[in-house]
Amino acid sequence: MSVPVTPTASATSQACDVLVVGGGPAGSTISAFLSRQGWNVVLLEKDRHPRFHIGESLLPMNVPLLDRLGVLDQVKAIGLPKYGAEFNDNGVTLTWYFKDALVKNRPNTYEVRRSEFDHVLIEHTRTLGTEVHEGVRVTDVEFRPGQTARVKTQDESGNPRQWETRYVVDATGRDTLLANRFGVKQRNPEHNSSAVFGHFSGVPRRPGLDEGNISIYWFEHGWYWMIPLKDGAMSVGAVCWPYYLKSRSKPVDEFLWDTLQLNPMVAERMKDAKLLAPALATGNFSYQARTMYGDGWLIVGDAFAFIDPVFSSGVYLAMNGAERGAAVIDSMLKKGDVSVAGNRALLRNYERTLRRGLKWFSWFIYRITTPAMRRMFMHPRNAFHMEEAVLSLLSADVFDKTPIARPLTVFKMIYWVATFWYWRESLASWRQRQRAWNTRLDYVWKSGD
Ligand SMILES: Cc1cc2nc3c(=O)[nH]c(=O)nc-3n(C[C@H](O)[C@H](O)[C@H](O)COP(=O)(O)OP(=O)(O)OC[C@H]3O[C@@H](n4cnc5c(N)ncnc54)[C@H](O)[C@@H]3O)c2cc1C
Repeated sequence: MSVPVTPTASATSQACDVLVVGGGPAGSTISAFLSRQGWNVVLLEKDRHPRFHIGESLLPMNVPLLDRLGVLDQVKAIGLPKYGAEFNDNGVTLTWYFKDALVKNRPNTYEVRRSEFDHVLIEHTRTLGTEVHEGVRVTDVEFRPGQTARVKTQDESGNPRQWETRYVVDATGRDTLLANRFGVKQRNPEHNSSAVFGHFSGVPRRPGLDEGNISIYWFEHGWYWMIPLKDGAMSVGAVCWPYYLKSRSKPVDEFLWDTLQLNPMVAERMKDAKLLAPALATGNFSYQARTMYGDGWLIVGDAFAFIDPVFSSGVYLAMNGAERGAAVIDSMLKKGDVSVAGNRALLRNYERTLRRGLKWFSWFIYRITTPAMRRMFMHPRNAFHMEEAVLSLLSADVFDKTPIARPLTVFKMIYWVATFWYWRESLASWRQRQRAWNTRLDYVWKSGD
């Protein structure tokens, strides 16, 4: 966390019901739902929108959520329809279509430029009455039992300010403000990866309705994504084991280009591509906070947990946690008691629901580069509704009543059989994962570094 700022005599103090730290999808969503309930909400964002953010691919379950939020038409206007996810391996291309999931009425979602999407969300919450301040960084939070919390901030000119709030929401993304503050951030014990990425022009798209589908490819050090955007650009990146990224001995742009040559299918599709802006790389992947709430505070979105983005789950997980979190906070504020002791069942139920969804994603995500999983994704079978259930997972339909548990358990059993069947390759892949786990890479590079 940043160095705490000592408030000066000139620092003004302002009161609110809920203070939300961070104006990404999680922060804007929770603010919007709470403002709509009539609470006095302040949202503080250290950057200024529109600003770059990676993570452009949404999931079908985002669509009803965006509708409930009241921004679906605006997102449709900036987004490219996405009907499925395409997997590529050894010269073969196979597309999984969302229309074939267990619930058939959510056939598509959207690819969005995040600078535009996040801007739509933060402006929307402003129109609902949230007091939004951009260019304001939260530097310290002081929780005082039985009293309002005191939040200290600094604007871009270095001016300090102080806020008093009944409730604090940490939506700071991978800055993980409160998880750091309380020392509850845990490195994921099962997974570790990093990424290098950029936006390109000149990358061929798929024809017709497939134009907006995400493409996934594997390579020896991880996997690649290609996400087509409405304006013709393509977001392209590689999620790779940290030891590979650590081996970099050249500028990030060059390293990304070299990485894209490691799979012939990717190299062919990128042959006329041009990088539109400097490439970026990031390392501090895969963590989870031990707890997501306390007396007068809640952590939502990436500030609570981050998992590998292979299933494009991050934005939905952040917004879903935020929507459910808003209902929990609304209920506590109405009761006039924001303590854990006074709301144990409510908070436990919230946490259980979110962790269950995260667990379904994680099991698949941690194994996505294994030889058995690659084969199963390239040769889908619908016996016991397995294919439909995997599509429900790919649509993020993992939080409610869709009956995914049985078919996904069968899928898991077949996965284990396949793992033993291809035991030599599986062992090599397991060793690579161990090596990845042992490599720490906790910083973010910019082009030219
Ligand atoms: C390589 C990569 C690829 C990804 N691809 C996808 C994808 O295709 N699809 C998908 O759904 N997800 C993807 N994700 C994940 C997705 O980007 C995140 O899950 C999502 O942005 C989480 O939203 P959030 O609101 O929790 O956090 P963020 O979007 O990170 O928002 C946090 C906000 O808090 C602000 N902030 C931080 N600290 C402070 C502070 N102290 N004071 C004030 N403001 C602060 C930040 O400036 C930021 O605007 C990807 C992630 C990575 C790294």
